[in-house]
Amino acid sequence: MSKPIATNNGKLILFTAPSGAGKTTIVRHLLKRFEFLDFSVSATNRARRPHEVDGKDYYFLSTEEFQTRIEQGAFLEWEEVYDGQYYGTLFSEIERVWASGKHIVFDIEVKGATNIKKTYPDNSMAVFIKPPSPEILFERLRNRKTETEASLRKRIARATLELTYENNFDKILVNDILDVALKEAEDLVIDFILTPLTTEEE
Ligand code: ADP
Ligand code: 5GP
Repeated sequence: MSKPIATNNGKLILFTAPSGAGKTTIVRHLLKRFEFLDFSVSATNRARRPHEVDGKDYYFLSTEEFQTRIEQGAFLEWEEVYDGQYYGTLFSEIERVWASGKHIVFDIEVKGATNIKKTYPDNSMAVFIKPPSPEILFERLRNRKTETEASLRKRIARATLELTYENNFDKILVNDILDVALKEAEDLVIDFILTPLTTEEE
């Protein structure tokens, strides 16, 4: 499958960060605040958390289903983010959101964000969400109470690597005081959406 082309000047807004930095919190807020945004629902083979809804938070697939989608070329990008745990962006999601006339928002780890930015350099903005410190990040992750001890260890190990990516993206958003971070996220979105695409200026 080839990459969907933006219709109606569709843009891509990527929120990326280590697990626990606040992507989900910030992205959910923006989706409630701005009707012109819609979420890129990723596919994953990880177990559904109790509050998560299939088709809304993720498309929850078995490992076999995920492999089949890879073979079909259905993914714009996918990563084995943790051992045996796959996450990926389906081409069909981008088409779905752009066909509705909205801009698309992603909650995605650093490598996926880098790949999507490369595919759509002209109409994407990638925002790195930075925790105040690694210690606070690990504490938030623990307090979220969604992970087993083994899963927490995997996430903390990967977060240490992901924190080194902060300068690879367009913007850095420090998520210390939540209300401040939410307002900054709103401002980043508004500025980006109001900025004409380079091709529109020509
Ligand atoms: P991610 O999606 O990046 O893994 P979450 O949005 O799930 O992160 O946030 C991780 C945990 O930290 C959640 O329990 C969330 O409620 C909490 N959290 C997010 N932002 C803040 C903040 N600014 N201050 C304190 N706790 C926060
Ligand atoms: P979680 O299990 O906490 O929901 O997500 C784990 C990590 O996978 C997070 O960093 C999240 O942003 C990332 N992720 C979610 N969807 C995708 C995706 O489609 N592609 C990639 N590469 N990462 C994703």
